[in-house]
Amino acid sequence: MSVIAGKMTTLNQAHWNDTVSVEVAQILQLPNFSSEDYAGNVVYDVAIVGGGIAGLSAALSAAQNGASVILLEKGAHLGSGASGRNAGILGAGVNMPITSMPQGHPAVSLWQSTSALVHEIYEEAKHTDSLLKTKQVGAYSFATSKAAVERLKAEAKARNSFNLEAEVVAPDVVQRLTGDKIDLNSVQAALWLEDEGRINPLTLLAQRARQAKQLGVRFSGHAKVEKFSVVANLWQLSVIDPRSEIAKKQHLDVVKAKSLIIATGPIEEANARIYAISFAVDLPDNFPLFWDAAPFVYYDYRYGDGHLTVSGGRYGKAGVSKNDGNYHRKMIEAAREWLPCLKNTLPTYAWAVDLNVTNDMIPEINYFSNELYGAKVAGLGALGVLPGMVLGARAGIEAVQKSSRKA
Ligand SMILES: Cc1cc2nc3c(=O)[nH]c(=O)nc-3n(C[C@H](O)[C@H](O)[C@H](O)COP(=O)(O)OP(=O)(O)OC[C@H]3O[C@@H](n4cnc5c(N)ncnc54)[C@H](O)[C@@H]3O)c2cc1C
Repeated sequence: MSVIAGKMTTLNQAHWNDTVSVEVAQILQLPNFSSEDYAGNVVYDVAIVGGGIAGLSAALSAAQNGASVILLEKGAHLGSGASGRNAGILGAGVNMPITSMPQGHPAVSLWQSTSALVHEIYEEAKHTDSLLKTKQVGAYSFATSKAAVERLKAEAKARNSFNLEAEVVAPDVVQRLTGDKIDLNSVQAALWLEDEGRINPLTLLAQRARQAKQLGVRFSGHAKVEKFSVVANLWQLSVIDPRSEIAKKQHLDVVKAKSLIIATGPIEEANARIYAISFAVDLPDNFPLFWDAAPFVYYDYRYGDGHLTVSGGRYGKAGVSKNDGNYHRKMIEAAREWLPCLKNTLPTYAWAVDLNVTNDMIPEINYFSNELYGAKVAGLGALGVLPGMVLGARAGIEAVQKSSRKA
């Protein structure tokens, strides 16, 4: 627990756990890694390391393409990393303006694939048995200077040239959708991104996990992959229970697979600390996402399920927690400037996550073996849910193609 301005706040925990069903919470719990996972010298078609959104997407697509799959996660549950503690924004593209993407870079196609995917997710949520809690609410990026207006115009034009929805609108248009809730006095124009939406991240993980389980994917928790190498034309993964690691009673067990996907995510090799807070507040259910555009140096504001989540802003230093209170306080002040109704409200949740992120980070698949299929989903940073799903699914298909050629 931490104290922000005298009030106790639940620290280092997002509010997602408190807003999901028992079913979702149960699906996310993992069985412990056990000898059954490698009994009888079993060889999996595909082994996946990491139970975040990228690993789950890889597991599902590999299984959908007929592979036997094991997913190894070092935590006790799915979403132990960034995927279970993010801000729940479904934003197409990657973590930079499209105008900043290097021309001709292969990742430019991610803008289209993630835009298509976000609509598939909204559709999937309409099914009666869907676990997904998501809503297309659109997003405003607010420009408070002439220079920012120009940048937003250029961004809209660039997005339109890729057939992506984007439009620069005047503040009175924003006001029509947000009522008098947001203080728009400083806003000169806004970029409206119609496709953007919100999701409860745990429901996304649970939905994908349930689908993967139905297709026979084997899940193992408390299964930390220490190292891996190719032996006798197979991947051999040394797995330990991290709890025994703490007790210095290491026990290495070996999982064998024809293809390997590493989806250990941005919390590995963290260089920055990203912050988030969440206020309990009542706003209209269709309240849009918004952020202050410099552009793209901002706090994100995301409403849903009775909570306004604020995330992003300036990063702290990974591993340094002594400044957490200051970062959180700045977020509170910024939120109150935009939403005066929060003047006397304190956040009920505040958390910080160390992750690997830089301004020029681009999501990609890195291949690390010439002998067998070995790929890492990398570069997801602070906006990686949709890119992680696209790249994870792509790696899953590639892994099956490669492992069946080897069989
Ligand atoms: C505060 C915050 C807010 C964010 N907001 C958004 C947002 O609104 N929208 C958005 O798109 N993105 C957002 N992001 C980024 C997004 O969460 C990530 O890009 C995405 O979740 C990465 O998914 P992943 O599966 O690659 O990684 P992770 O979810 O981190 O999953 C990796 C998993 O691998 C496991 N693991 C690591 N090493 C091993 C090992 N050796 N053996 C076994 N398991 C291992 C970890 O325990 C973890 O569960 C945010 C991130 C943070 C921290």
